[in-house]
Amino acid sequence: MSDAELVLRSRRVITPDGTRAASVVVAGGTITDVLPHDADVPAGARLEDFGDDVLLPGLVDTHVHVNDPGRTEWEGFWTATRAAAAGGITTLVDMPLNSLPPTTTVEHLRTKKEAAAGKTHIDVGFWGGALPGNVEDLRPLHDAGVFGFKAFLSPSGVDEFPHLDQEQLARSLAEIAGFGGLLVVHAEDPHHLAAAPQQGGPKYADFLASRPREAEDTAISRLIAQARRFDARVHVLHLSSGDALPLIAAARADGVRITVETCPHYLTLTAEEVPDGASEFKCCPPIREAANQDPLWHALADGTIDCVVTDHSPSTADLKTGDFATAWGGIAGLQLSLPAVWTEARRRGHGLQDVVRWMSARTARLVGLDSRKGAIAPGHDADFAVFAPDETFTVDPDALQHRNRVTAYAGRTLSGVVRSTWLRGERIVADGEFTEPKGRLLTRAH
Ligand SMILES: [Zn+2]
Repeated sequence: MSDAELVLRSRRVITPDGTRAASVVVAGGTITDVLPHDADVPAGARLEDFGDDVLLPGLVDTHVHVNDPGRTEWEGFWTATRAAAAGGITTLVDMPLNSLPPTTTVEHLRTKKEAAAGKTHIDVGFWGGALPGNVEDLRPLHDAGVFGFKAFLSPSGVDEFPHLDQEQLARSLAEIAGFGGLLVVHAEDPHHLAAAPQQGGPKYADFLASRPREAEDTAISRLIAQARRFDARVHVLHLSSGDALPLIAAARADGVRITVETCPHYLTLTAEEVPDGASEFKCCPPIREAANQDPLWHALADGTIDCVVTDHSPSTADLKTGDFATAWGGIAGLQLSLPAVWTEARRRGHGLQDVVRWMSARTARLVGLDSRKGAIAPGHDADFAVFAPDETFTVDPDALQHRNRVTAYAGRTLSGVVRSTWLRGERIVADGEFTEPKGRLLTRAH
């Protein structure tokens, strides 16, 4: 083991065993020890003392659409990873769609990695995509190190990424279960969507009615049946409907291998407050009524929902038109996810320990990175955010590092300021100043 280079000290260090005053020793980019607060600094090591600011493990965001290459004007590796770093995120896993090509073959994965190389300020991994016609590409992609596969059960919003019908889902799931992989699913049922009223126009209530909860509930119930049939491991992406929670809890109690995520916008924004034409609030499934939010928070508290991820999915501003039917569906929140979730979590009586569990430990575990990421513990990468939980700020889109500064959070006052972010023992951003990109491209541990 190399000699200690750095000691990070804080009166509030969030470790898997609780929050305490501690000195975290780093050597070779790895945490080697977590010592008492007043421990001697090893000879030759540099001390960084953060006082009362919280030291937490860098967040792991497993649901980000970087869109690079091909739609880099929507977002790119350079801008997305800067925004993530500014928000305390040190690892992201990129979704297989909205880039061109989508990550659906090993060759396409190579193209994505070439686009990302040298441009990532944080560590980046990749999901593969499961399409109707690429069952034979799934195992090679798995062997090439993707963290799992994404599928849609209803139209995705882009033509090059078609959705799976139930028969195609069964075929993909059987294949993925055969090599012990993970399928992550956008679960909305296309028949329920087609049967719902499709008004269009600027009224949010009309958009909400076009994507009813039953579409989610039905798709999830079918997914559970398929997971049970193949004993496959599945994960529900961006859960919005609180009505689906009992189904998920029952399936899990029954041994079905299912995990679930939700997103900051479902936890902190409500349908009632979306102004007409404000399509920066449009995403699918949609932000629902305030009454739907309590069940989501309860499910986070009791563990039915495993984790919170951004589903950062921006576009250029011109595609965010005033018509909810045709505007691009996707919310940009990468830089704001930690303060957004913390603001509401705190109001509801949760601690930062909980937020770290939802946004770092559990997401790391979802993608099998939990031996290196998601915890301040010996043997883990020295990835940290230094966070001032009591400081507030008002969201100014101009202060965002996202390529397109359109955000549903504009003008909100949030609690929690990220002072600096650290990757493998190096400070990669502080006070809006970034180092050169030092992120690595990650592959699934074999
Ligand atoms: Zn998404």
